Amino acid sequence: MIRVARTGKPIVIEKKQAAWTQALLGATTHKEKQRAEGKYRHRAIKDALVSMFHGKCAYCESKISHIDYGHIEHFRPKSKPEFRHLTFEWNNLLLSCPVCNDAGHKGDHFPEAVDGGPLVNPCDDLPDDHFEFVVDQTAWLATVVGKTSRGEMTEKLLGLNRPELRAYRSKLVMKLCVLSRYVETDADAKMLFEEACRDDAEYAAFARKLASNMPA
Ligand SMILES: [Zn+2]
Repeated sequence: MIRVARTGKPIVIEKKQAAWTQALLGATTHKEKQRAEGKYRHRAIKDALVSMFHGKCAYCESKISHIDYGHIEHFRPKSKPEFRHLTFEWNNLLLSCPVCNDAGHKGDHFPEAVDGGPLVNPCDDLPDDHFEFVVDQTAWLATVVGKTSRGEMTEKLLGLNRPELRAYRSKLVMKLCVLSRYVETDADAKMLFEEACRDDAEYAAFARKLASNMPA
């Protein structure tokens, strides 16, 4: 997870949020509620989120846009009555991959402070304060380790080290380890390594960790 600066509110939210929220909160039948709720899937909102998160999952940093449309994730779940009024709140929306957002992971969970929450939010928190991005070059593993209770809880709930994700991520990070040996002597290697540290690169948190360990 890397810090993501939230971009400006899409115009459609600016214009429609109040009316949409009123319609949702006033809905009396299931059908009415469904119709009112679905407005958050507006194309302009999705486009703004894809652009803000560079087509990556806000939580696990996997690239989504080339294989999936991605999910509009409500940080505070819209399914919980106390958060329903945040269904169209820009500051409550993130882009997530289908796995981080599925019922077995984030789903409708929102752990409160008494349960070790809230989850680390890449737009509201500094992920580096809560996670260590550990690169083990002997075991060839790239692992997210929580260093605060919120970090630990977030890693566990979202499954940031789920086996398939960690295996894929580790392969990529190990290639970066090898590449990092050549940045001083090869301009192309330097360029590729710098690309891997950019906001739009998959698992940039790990690339940045490697960069921070390299001699200045
Ligand atoms: Zn994800």
